[in-house]
Amino acid sequence: MQKVALVTGGMGGLGEAICIKFAALGYKVVATYSPSNSKAQEWLRSMNSMGYGFKAYPCDVVSFDSCKACVEQIVKELGPIDVLVNNAGITRDMTFKKMTKDDWDAVIHTNLDSVFNMTKQVVDGMVERNWGRIINISSVNGQKGAFGQTNYAAAKAGMHGFTKSLALEVAKKGVTVNTISPGYIGTKMVRAIPQEVLDSKILPQIPMSRLGKPEEVAGLVAYLSSQEAAFVNGANISINGGQHMY
Ligand code: NDP
Repeated sequence: MQKVALVTGGMGGLGEAICIKFAALGYKVVATYSPSNSKAQEWLRSMNSMGYGFKAYPCDVVSFDSCKACVEQIVKELGPIDVLVNNAGITRDMTFKKMTKDDWDAVIHTNLDSVFNMTKQVVDGMVERNWGRIINISSVNGQKGAFGQTNYAAAKAGMHGFTKSLALEVAKKGVTVNTISPGYIGTKMVRAIPQEVLDSKILPQIPMSRLGKPEEVAGLVAYLSSQEAAFVNGANISINGGQHMY
C-alpha cells in the first residue's frame, strides 16, 4: 500500500527536494506550510502541474493545537502517517550579547518544540502499526556550535537528544527515529548569506569547496525512510562535505 510521508516546511528549500524524492518513490506526499504563507497554493499548483500529486496543509509547528488539528485532518483524508520529517526551521542569528528573549524563544519554539508538537501526533499510531520513521532535520551547527547561533545550535543539539531518547522507547516497535545533520546546503536560507561571507568564511571550511545540494539530503531522507534502513536507529547522520567529522 502507498505510504504517507509528511514533511513539515515542505515548501522550503530542503522540504521541496524531500517531497520530490518521496513522490518519485511512490509515497503519498504531504507538505505542511505556515498558515501565514501566502504563496502556498501557488507552490502547490506549480508542483502539481508537473505531476507530483502533492497534498498541502497549513500547520504552525510552534502550536501544539495547530499540529494536532492538522494531523487529524490528514489522517482523516489520506490515512495514517508512516513517515514524519521534522524539517521546519528558522534562524535568528546574532551574538548572545544582542540576542533577546524573543529571538531565543522563536528559534527554540520553531526548531525544537515543533519536533515534540508533530511527533506527539503520529508516534502512537506508528507504534500500534509496528512501523514508522521519524526523521529530524538538525544541523552541523548543532553538533559543533556556531558563532552567533546560541539559539539555533541549542535547538538543533536538543533535537538529537530527543531522537536518541525516543529511539530507545520505540525501538522494539518497528519505529526508527534518526537525526540528519546537514552542513551548508544551497537553499534560500543559505543563499541569503552575502556571497562575500560564503566565499571568505563558509566555503573554506568545507573540504569539498562547495555547498551541498538539497537532493543529496533528500536522498539520505529517502534511505532512512526505507525498509533497508530498519536497523539505523537513534543515529545522527552528518551530510556536510567533510566540514565536521563527528
Ligand atoms: P527554508 O527557509 O527554505 O525552509 C524552512 C521551512 O520551515 C519553510 O518551508 C517554512 O514554511 C517552515 N517553517 C518555518 N516556521 C514555521 C512554522 N512556524 N510553522 C510551519 N512551518 C514553518 O530552509 P531550508 O530548507 O534551508 O531548511 C530546512 C531545514 O533544514 C531547517 O530545519 C534548517 O534549520 C535545516 N538546515 C538547513 C541547512 C541549509 O544549509 N539550508 C543546513 C542545516 C540544517 P513557510 O515557508 O510556509 O513559512
